[in-house]
Amino acid sequence: LMQLFRPLDMLGMVYRTIRQGLIDMAAMFDLVDTPPEIVDKPGAKALRVSGGELAFEDVTFGYDPDRQILNGLSLRIPPGKTLAVVGPSGAGKSTIARLLYRFYDVTGGRITIDGQDLRDVTQTSLRAHIGIVPQDTVLFNDSIGYNIGYGREGSSQAEIEDAARGAQIHNFIAAQPKQYATQVGERGLKLSGGEKQRVAIARTLLKNPPILILDEATSALDSRTEAEILDTLDEVSKQRTTIVIAHRLSTVVGADQIVVLDAGRIAEQGTHAELLAKDGLYAEMWARQQAEKDEEAVAAE
Ligand code: ATP
Repeated sequence: LMQLFRPLDMLGMVYRTIRQGLIDMAAMFDLVDTPPEIVDKPGAKALRVSGGELAFEDVTFGYDPDRQILNGLSLRIPPGKTLAVVGPSGAGKSTIARLLYRFYDVTGGRITIDGQDLRDVTQTSLRAHIGIVPQDTVLFNDSIGYNIGYGREGSSQAEIEDAARGAQIHNFIAAQPKQYATQVGERGLKLSGGEKQRVAIARTLLKNPPILILDEATSALDSRTEAEILDTLDEVSKQRTTIVIAHRLSTVVGADQIVVLDAGRIAEQGTHAELLAKDGLYAEMWARQQAEKDEEAVAAE
C-alpha cells in the first residue's frame, strides 16, 4: 500500500513548491490577472545550477502583442553577484522578475541560468532554485514556527530557529509567551511590515536557493527598521546570485551593478559611484530622492 502513496507524496511536494511560488509572486507583484499557463516542454530536464550565472540575452517581451515592454534587453549577473534594477514606474522592472520566475515566456531572445534556457527545464526545478523575498509577505493563520518552516518541507525545529536567527527575528519570537507556537495572522499576533519581511527572509534561508529575487524594503518601514532589514538582506544575498527590483534607490547603493531601465531598455549601467559621475538619469533620480528625504526630515522636526 505504501508504494501507492509515494507518488502521492511527490505530488504533494510539487504542489506545495508551486503553491508557495505562486503565493510569493502574487504578493510581490499584485498579480491581478492570472498569467497564461506555462507548460513544461516534453522531455524537459531538471535545472542544474553550478555557479548560478544568470543571463538575459536580447530579451523582448510584451503582455499584449501590440505593446512591447522589454525591447532587446541584455543583462549578465556573474555567479554570486548582485544586480539592482532601477527606473521610473512602469519601466519594466517587475516584468524582469516575472520572466525569470517563468510566469511568462519571452517573445524574443532567451534567459539562461548557467547556460540552460529557462524554457528547456522543468518549472518545478527552476522555482526550487529561486528564492523570493517579496515586499508584502503572506502569512498563514498558523503558528510563527509553521510560517517559517514553510520555506522548506520537513525542516526541524532547530533549523527553523537557525533561520530565524539569521533573519534576526528569533529574539522577538522567543520573547512571546508561546514562542514558536504563537499564532499569527488574522486571529493571532499581528506582525509589522518589517517583522513580516523577516519571516520571508527566514523562509528563504531555509530554502537556501542559489538565486534570489529581492523586492526592496518598502516605504512603509521607518528608516531605522529599513536600515536593519537592508543589513540582513545583504547577509542573505552573499554567495547568491541576486537581482534586486528597486522601486526606490535606498537598496541599491551597495550593488555590484546597477541597471537603469527606461521604457524597457537599459538607459545606464554601472556602480552607484559611476552612475553619479555620469550625471544622467540615475543622478537625477538620486538627487530627487535625497531632496524628498530632506523634506521628510524637516517635516519630522
Ligand atoms: P513599478 O516601479 O511602478 O512597480 P515596474 O518598472 O516594475 O513599475 P512593470 O510592473 O514591469 O513596471 O510594468 C511594465 C509595464 O507593463 C507597465 O506599463 C504595466 O502597465 C505593464 N503591465 C504589467 N503587468 C501587466 C499585465 N499583466 N498585463 C498587461 N500589462 C501589464
